[in-house]
Amino acid sequence: MTRRIHSLPSQLVNQIAAGEVVERPASVIKELVENSLDAGAGLVDVEVQQGGVKRIRVRDDGRGIARDDLALALSRHATSKVASLADLEGITSMGFRGEALPSIASVSRLILTSREQDADQAWQIDAEDAQPRPAAHPAGTTVEVRDLFYNTPARRKFLKTEKTEFRHLEQVLRRLALARFDVGFKLAHNGRQIFSARQAASLVEREKRIAALLGQSFIDNSLRFEHEAAGLRLWGWVGLPAFSRSQADMQHFFVNGRMVRDKLVSHAIRQAYQDVLYHGRHPAFLLYLELRPQLVDVNVHPTKHEVRFREGRLVHDYLFRTLHQVLADARPEDVLPEGR
Ligand code: ADP
Ligand code: MG
Repeated sequence: MTRRIHSLPSQLVNQIAAGEVVERPASVIKELVENSLDAGAGLVDVEVQQGGVKRIRVRDDGRGIARDDLALALSRHATSKVASLADLEGITSMGFRGEALPSIASVSRLILTSREQDADQAWQIDAEDAQPRPAAHPAGTTVEVRDLFYNTPARRKFLKTEKTEFRHLEQVLRRLALARFDVGFKLAHNGRQIFSARQAASLVEREKRIAALLGQSFIDNSLRFEHEAAGLRLWGWVGLPAFSRSQADMQHFFVNGRMVRDKLVSHAIRQAYQDVLYHGRHPAFLLYLELRPQLVDVNVHPTKHEVRFREGRLVHDYLFRTLHQVLADARPEDVLPEGR
C-alpha cells in the first residue's frame, strides 16, 4: 500500500490542537475568560450547567468583535493580539496564539454573539455555518459552548463527574478573580449563584475578595507587602509561618497577571521560608510579580501555565531576598513556629 502525504482537513487540525488546550470544561472557562480580560472587560459573567459539560456561557462588557471579524475569530491562527515577532516578545495579553476559539468550536457547539462598543447592532455567528446574523446583545461579547466533546467520544470518556468538573472550573475562575482585582466576576451553576465579586479598587475591597476566595483566616494570618527594585515589582500577601499547611494547596503566584507554576519561583519561595517553617510544612501565599514583558517568555506551552524567565537567576534571587526580608521584619512571635 502506498501512503501519500495529504493535508488534514481543518476540523481535524482543530481537534488535534484542542487536545492540547481543551482538556475539560475548566480549560474552556480559562480560555474564554482570558479572552474577556484581553477585551478590556470590567465584568465577566459566567454561567454553567452540569459542570460545564452541558453548557458554558461567558458574557463580558469588553470591546466586542466587528461583524466581519466574527468568522475570523473562529478560524485558526487568527488573532488581533500580535502581528510580529516583536509583539510576541513583549506580549501583554493573555492570548496570542489564535487557537482557543477554533479548538473549542471543533469539539463543541459554539455560538459567538458580539457587539462592538460603538456599534448600533450586535451580530451572532454559529460555528456550524459561520454566517453572521443580526442579534440583540449589549456592547460586549457572549460565547456559548454546549455539549463539550459531543463529537469526540474518546475525550468525553475522560470527563469526571459533574461535581468534579465544576470544582475544577470554579478553581480556575477563582484564580482569575485573584489575578484581576480590577474586574468583576460572577459565577452561577445550574441556575444557582456561586460567587459574585465586584470590581475591587481599594485595599479593603481587595482583602474582602481574597477573604471570600481564600478564607478570612488567610488574610488574618498573612503579611501584606510591596517591593520594587531594578524593574521588578513584587507585592502580595505571605502567610505567616504559623499559618503553614500540610499541603501546598494555598499557593498563588502571578506573573504579569498570569498564574504560573514555576520551579525556579517555588524554589526561591521555599528558601525564603526555610528557617521559619518546619520540615514538610508548606507556606500559603498570594504573590504578584511584575516585570517588563520582554523579560519573560510565555510561549512555552499552549496552556501558558509555564513561563521562562530571561534572567532566571536574577528573578530567583530577587524573590528570595525580598520574601526573606518580609518574613524577617515580621514580629518574631508571628514568625517562629509554635513551640520553638
Ligand atoms: P487569541 O486569544 O490567542 O487571540 P482566540 O481563539 O482565543 O485567540 O480568539 C481569537 C480572537 O477573537 C481574539 O484575538 C480576539 O480578537 C477575538 N475575541 C475572542 N474572544 C473575545 C471577546 N470576549 N471579546 C472581544 N474579542 C474576542
Ligand atoms: Mg484567547
